[in-house]
Amino acid sequence: MSVNLKATRLVDGALEALLPSHCLLCGARGQGALSLCPACEAETPRNVVRCARCALPLESSARLCGRCIKREPPWDAAWVPFRYEWPLAQLESRFKFGGDLAAGRTLSLLCMAAPRPEALPQALVPVPLHRSRLRGRGYNQALELAKPLAKHFGVRLLRDALQRSRATKAQTELSAMQRRRNVRGAFAASFNGKPPEHVAVVDDVFTTGATLAECTRVLKRAGVQRVDVWALARAPARK
Ligand SMILES: [Zn+2]
Ligand SMILES: [Zn+2]
Repeated sequence: MSVNLKATRLVDGALEALLPSHCLLCGARGQGALSLCPACEAETPRNVVRCARCALPLESSARLCGRCIKREPPWDAAWVPFRYEWPLAQLESRFKFGGDLAAGRTLSLLCMAAPRPEALPQALVPVPLHRSRLRGRGYNQALELAKPLAKHFGVRLLRDALQRSRATKAQTELSAMQRRRNVRGAFAASFNGKPPEHVAVVDDVFTTGATLAECTRVLKRAGVQRVDVWALARAPARK
C-alpha cells in the first residue's frame, strides 16, 4: 500500500469518527459508528424463533428443527443472530460482492448488539477463502466479521487455524447434497502447539451448514473438543 493511500485511509477513519454516519440503506442519519438509522436497524430481521441446534428460523417455537431431530449436526452450538432477509441481505451482498467494507463494519456492530452467545469460546476461527477467490475479492468476509467480534468478546482470533486445501465450486447453485460433497476434504486445520478446547468457526451466511459442518469435523479431528458455529445470518429452509 502506498504511503498516500495509507494516509488517506487514516484521514477517512478520523473523519468517520467525527462526522455523523449515514444510513447505508436510506441515507438518513446513522447512529455513531453504526451506519444505520434507528428505523432501518429496527427492520433488521432478528433470528429469535429458531432451532436450538442449527439456528434455522422456525415458524413456531420448537426446540429442534426436523433435520436436527433426524440427524444431529457435528457442532455443539450455533449463534446466528439474524435471518438472511431484507434489508440485512442487501447489506451482506454489498459487503461480500461489492467490496463495501463499511457495510461489513455495520454488520459486525449489529452482531455485537445482539443477544450474546450462551458460552464464549476461547478462540474464533474464520472460514477461509481459497487463494484464488481471495485474490479476486481482496478480503475474506468471514475474517472481516471475526476480527471485530474477537476484540469485542475478548477472545483470540486464529485466522490461519483453518486452511482451504483445494478450491471448491461456489455453493450458491448447488443442492444440499452437492454442497456436502463439494466441501468434503476441502479444509485442513493446524495449530501452533496444543489446540484450544473450545473454538467457534465464523462465517458470514449460514445456508445449508455444509461448510460449517465440514470445518467442525476437521477441527475436531485436529483435537478441538468443542466447536460452535457463528454466523451473521441464517438462510431460511430450502425445499
Ligand atoms: Zn435507514
Ligand atoms: Zn436444526
